[in-house]
Amino acid sequence: MTMEFAVELRGIAKRFAKVGTVEINAVRDIDLSIGCGEFFTLLGPSGCGKTTTLRLVAGFEQPTAGELRIQGRSMVAVPAHLRPVNTVFQSYALFPHLTVEDNVGFGLAVKRVPRRERAERVREALALVRMDGRAGRKPSELSGGQQQRVALARALVNRPAVLLLDEPFGALDLKLRREMQIELKQMQRRLGITFVFVTHDQEEALTMSDRIAVMHDGRVLQVDGPVGIYERPTSRFSAGFIGEMNFLAATVAEAGPDGVALKAAHTTIRLPRGDHALAPGQAVTLAIRPEALAFADATEDGPAEERVRIEGRVRDAIYIGTDRRYAVDLASGETMHVRQQNSAARHRRAPVVGDAATLFTCAGAVRVLLD
Ligand code: ATP
Repeated sequence: MTMEFAVELRGIAKRFAKVGTVEINAVRDIDLSIGCGEFFTLLGPSGCGKTTTLRLVAGFEQPTAGELRIQGRSMVAVPAHLRPVNTVFQSYALFPHLTVEDNVGFGLAVKRVPRRERAERVREALALVRMDGRAGRKPSELSGGQQQRVALARALVNRPAVLLLDEPFGALDLKLRREMQIELKQMQRRLGITFVFVTHDQEEALTMSDRIAVMHDGRVLQVDGPVGIYERPTSRFSAGFIGEMNFLAATVAEAGPDGVALKAAHTTIRLPRGDHALAPGQAVTLAIRPEALAFADATEDGPAEERVRIEGRVRDAIYIGTDRRYAVDLASGETMHVRQQNSAARHRRAPVVGDAATLFTCAGAVRVLLD
């Protein structure tokens, strides 16, 4: 029994048998330990297995292999309605003919919770989502965001240990979505309930989560906090899926106890020893964020041995108010995208199309990826 985790998945796999054709491995080898009170997000593109993973936790699907525990208890023989979880879907599926109050209290009524207790718990749940003034309204009299709040209240009313949320803001416009993200995160902190949240929106995941599992093709590639996921991606997929990223093909020239020398973009890049043991001749990929690159003359300071320089020519320069974005072609045929804050570079002439440019970054901003 490990009670420090709210949800544990060990070697979980789910295979769907397809009639007549190949089987689909929706998820494979999933190992996750989700802490009590954690806001945990499954992030990945459409079809990567996020919803399947959530449905396995909810008990709507049974795993083909592996073990699932909630609050330390094996869920193998526990049907969905007896698990200490509740699910909020993208489609809120409120009953149109019932008031907000009756929608939220519906599950409690089915369970024959006495009227007075029911009213009290519904009131509490509606207050949590700031909908207490609208208990008597019908869903059709509410905005999309308000309907989603009611759906949340309905999921919280029977006090689940774990709340599962499958793209709950998918139907909302961007502005409302951003507002709801902040509200939901604050509410989760206040309640201390474990949230397992599914999204394909990387900004949403970074904004809300304590930790994120990046999923691709039915597998979990990386689990880390938002800063780790953004700044220390461990695979090409994670690096490219979250935010913008430049990739450079590189070959290890020297690898010693103090650091490595890599040949990339017709230059030598020296980095301190990283996470991986590298061997001379090995092909790797370097990943550098556009905002980590600068044009050399603006940033001459900093210890020379930590500086990485790459020569190129400006092909595109776009002004977008807060930033300028550049595409810089390298002699190797690769392109580096650069993003400069306008305020940071105001004191000097902005590079223009056709300029020869020396790009600069520090060694710490260069990730070495093996795939
Ligand atoms: P989305 O964001 O589009 O919902 P997802 O990451 O949630 O995607 P899943 O819905 O978990 O992905 O699907 C993973 C894979 O499993 C997909 O290839 C999907 O077609 C397949 N799949 C899911 N449910 C079933 C099912 N009931 N029968 C057959 N295949 C399924």
